[in-house]
Amino acid sequence: MAKGWVKDLYGKRLKELLERGEYWEIKKLMGPTGPHAIVEGKEVIMFATNNYLNLANDQRLKQAAVEAIEKYGWGPGAVWAIAGFHEILSELEKKIAEFKRTEAGIFFPTGYATNVGTIPTLVETGDLILSDQLNHGSIIDGIRLSRAEKIVYNHCDVADLEDKLRKAHGKYNKILIITDGVFSMDGDIAPLKDISKLAEEYNAIVYVDDAHGEGVLGEGRGTPAHFGVDDKIDIHMGTFSKALGSSGGMVGSDREIIEYVRNTARSWLLSTGPSPGAIAANLKALEIVMSQEGKERVRRLHENANYFRKELQSIGFNTGKSETPMIPVIIGDTKKARELAKALFDDGIFVVPIVYPMVPRGTERTRNEVSAGHTREDLDKTLAAYEKWGKKLGII
Ligand SMILES: *Cc1c(COP(=O)(O)O)cnc(C)c1O
Repeated sequence: MAKGWVKDLYGKRLKELLERGEYWEIKKLMGPTGPHAIVEGKEVIMFATNNYLNLANDQRLKQAAVEAIEKYGWGPGAVWAIAGFHEILSELEKKIAEFKRTEAGIFFPTGYATNVGTIPTLVETGDLILSDQLNHGSIIDGIRLSRAEKIVYNHCDVADLEDKLRKAHGKYNKILIITDGVFSMDGDIAPLKDISKLAEEYNAIVYVDDAHGEGVLGEGRGTPAHFGVDDKIDIHMGTFSKALGSSGGMVGSDREIIEYVRNTARSWLLSTGPSPGAIAANLKALEIVMSQEGKERVRRLHENANYFRKELQSIGFNTGKSETPMIPVIIGDTKKARELAKALFDDGIFVVPIVYPMVPRGTERTRNEVSAGHTREDLDKTLAAYEKWGKKLGII
């Protein structure tokens, strides 16, 4: 039992979170994650998951997991570095390299662990990290764990990045430029062509976290492929937790870099990975995404996303700078964003309200993640509900 004052202190902090509206009321899922789901006992059309390609409940992923568990058992036993890893993990890492079009690949327990583990291995005291203003929290934490200096450049602002590169030139041992491929709150795309060109000019390392780009852009191969600059990115980071419908993180790069990361990343060395079942499911997910069927899923995803975004705009909603299936409806008011999400939920549509501090004040929104598995009927039903509630709440 905790001491009285400890309980009181954190009880008070918790209350403050509640009062500031920063407490997560976490909903219960009562079945598989798909374009439809049972949430709190209610059937809803799902826009709250990253299940872009509708693979999270795919029979082939489940089957692969079951077979691997039958063959290798459930538990990994110990951290891979000590006890060795199952041959299926080597297969997965080969597949990661094939997917990222790199020489070698490494698998991590999660995307978060990938960033907090990999970034500190690449930079040290005397180095500089140039980081996009809207980079994911796991990148920010990875930077904090490194001993390098950090300078934030304005979101997707190539001129600002160049200015900061010019000023830093010659003052540091090396410079790492780090960016999301697709940004997770706005669904806009990092200008990787310009960034990789600048990196070449200034001889900087480029690290792309493509969590929301892989399985979505570049026929599924991600943001670097979308711009045709795969071979100009030094470090290709990704996750299995979005379009790939599973969980785990990955890095693709040259063999020496991958083996160095493996031998120095603390989140790889000190943390046990997931069950062999998850490894096998990830392998299957990559196979599907790289196949003709994967390309077809990506095509359907964009067809759905483009339709949904265009219709939201024609109803009068502000979808910001989204160019991807991650579509915000920007409202600019915490209370209205929450009310809208709640009204939609009551109508059987699950979208997430995103408010300060996750996004800047004045840009409070609902976040809508379209899936290849949504039908036209799902989208139309959702659009009708958006129009009804948007008018009732005075948003449009
Ligand atoms: C989701 C996400 C992560 C974390 O990935 P997990 O596999 O969920 O740990 C990292 N970076 C970005 C940009 C993300 O969107």
